[in-house]
Amino acid sequence: MQAVAALMRRPPPLPAYTRSKRAGGGTMSYELLIEQREPIDGWTVCTICLNLDRTTAVQRKRWQCTDCGVDSSNGSQRTLKDYLTENSSETIESNLAQWSNVKGARAAYKMLRSARYKCLLTLGKRLRAEPAGP
Ligand SMILES: [Zn+2]
Repeated sequence: MQAVAALMRRPPPLPAYTRSKRAGGGTMSYELLIEQREPIDGWTVCTICLNLDRTTAVQRKRWQCTDCGVDSSNGSQRTLKDYLTENSSETIESNLAQWSNVKGARAAYKMLRSARYKCLLTLGKRLRAEPAGP
C-alpha cells in the first residue's frame, strides 16, 4: 500500500493517462511483451505507476519513469524480470484487488493501472510456466 499512498500524494501528470501518441505510453509496451515480440530482459517496471520502460538503466541507478516521473532514488523501479520473480501471481492479484478499491484515483488512470496489473499477471505466469488460468 506504500506505493498507492505515494501515488495519492503526487498523482502523475494527466497527459500520460490519455492514450498519447508517445511510444511507451498506455499499455503498448506490455502488448509487445505479451505478444512475445520482445524478450522481457532489458525492460524496467516502475513500481509506482507500473509503466514499462525499455531500459536496464535501473542497474546503473540513473533511471527516471517517463510516465509518473519518479526516479531511482527511492528504489521505485525494478527490472521486469526481478519484479515478476519477486511478486507471485497471488501478490499481483491482491495488489490489483487493493488498487481496484482505492478511492479518489482518476478513472482513466485506475483503468490503465489495472490493465497493467493484468498484463504483469500474464507475464508472471508465463515466466513461471503456470497455467494461464480461466
Ligand atoms: Zn512511474
